[in-house]
Amino acid sequence: MHRILKDESIAGYEAELGRERIRRAAEEVIGRARLSGDGQGYDAIVATLRERLDDLRGASPTPVINATGILLHTNLGRAPLSADAVTAVASFGGGYSNLEYDLETGERGSRHAAIGEALRTITGAQDALVVNNCAAAVFLVLDTFAKGREVIVARSQLVEIGGGFRVPEVLERSGAKLVEVGTTNRVYIEDFERALSPRTALLLRMHASNYRIEGFAHDPSARDLVMLGRRAGVPVVEDLGGGALCDLAEYGTAHERTVQETIGDGVALVTFSGDKLIGGPQAGIVAGRANLIARIRNNPLLRALRVGKLTIAALGATLRCYRDRAARERLPLYRKLAATLDELSERAKAYVGALPCASAGESVAYLGGGALPQASIASIAIAVPSERPQQLAARLRAEEPPIVTRIERGRLLLDLRTIAPEEDRFVIASLLSAYVPL
Ligand SMILES: *Cc1c(COP(=O)(O)O)cnc(C)c1O
Repeated sequence: MHRILKDESIAGYEAELGRERIRRAAEEVIGRARLSGDGQGYDAIVATLRERLDDLRGASPTPVINATGILLHTNLGRAPLSADAVTAVASFGGGYSNLEYDLETGERGSRHAAIGEALRTITGAQDALVVNNCAAAVFLVLDTFAKGREVIVARSQLVEIGGGFRVPEVLERSGAKLVEVGTTNRVYIEDFERALSPRTALLLRMHASNYRIEGFAHDPSARDLVMLGRRAGVPVVEDLGGGALCDLAEYGTAHERTVQETIGDGVALVTFSGDKLIGGPQAGIVAGRANLIARIRNNPLLRALRVGKLTIAALGATLRCYRDRAARERLPLYRKLAATLDELSERAKAYVGALPCASAGESVAYLGGGALPQASIASIAIAVPSERPQQLAARLRAEEPPIVTRIERGRLLLDLRTIAPEEDRFVIASLLSAYVPL
């Protein structure tokens, strides 16, 4: 054992895994070798142990370089945090804070106060609160207002938005009864009107996310629903999912309904994610009428879904970037969206200069994260011809940090819109070492 732990090829793992984990893994491997009784030599045991340590190392999440062109890639952790948010997380996380402490009175305060204030200012909502993610926010709203009662939803919006979040199932689990109206492609306000009953708790409007019905299609507008809801005394809830706080059309992509517009339409409560179009940490936000938010605050379930101090620190720093466009572009998501094609083409030169068989060309990047499936963003990608693009992609994924690419028509593509400029040098060097000439 002593000799194994001192072995040069094993000692290199110590900084990352720590001595104790290595010792435990070594015990396990040696124990198994003894049991098998086939007299494995020292070298074979060390080789097995190294495989085991590689597995252990791979098991913890690691930063990657996103060359896919999908800005909010759910599998790659969605929005990267801004430097301000990272600093806030480090200073909040590394010490004590006034998370639930009022510095003026010296008494207990609310962890939601500062974030609530920022959200009120930005969105125009009367009040807001934060939970773990948007799925939790939707569930909490349904649990608070619709348990044992009915929720009317357009059939065209009864979608599954990925990760197993299916609207009808979430409704069922919350104890609400789903009343679906209209047809898959056409739903009218009259359909909602006919479905109203004394048991109706909410009218629910859902962002169809990664799904779109084209052609002969109709959905009632939020305003129509709000008008109907007012007459019937039933609140309208809208789940935006992405929840942009600014007009994405400024960045040359299709306009996405914003939280401000939704509140402006008179919707009683709106739910949205922190790590999609806001560009912050994973979180779910409920914003809307003060009396309804107050009822949610009294729901004991809120305690189970509450966010930690790191989320609050990161979200607070993220929201501070919404005072104007320049500040907003401190958020990596908006900085990446703001990059012009000229800037991307300029960066592409370094790639093609280093690897002459590669070429730079126009490509299409996407927001992802369930928002605007149809909205593409013009981009520039480096195309690397390869006989075995899958193998090249695998080699790039084995880099440290791993580089995640996409393959299109037999070519490996690296989309420059999602790669940060400061990552270019590393990506180029990795390409040079991973590339095997045709
Ligand atoms: C993404 C999305 C959600 C879930 O958001 P999470 O923050 O991932 O829980 C809910 N509703 C809609 C419409 C979405 O697009």
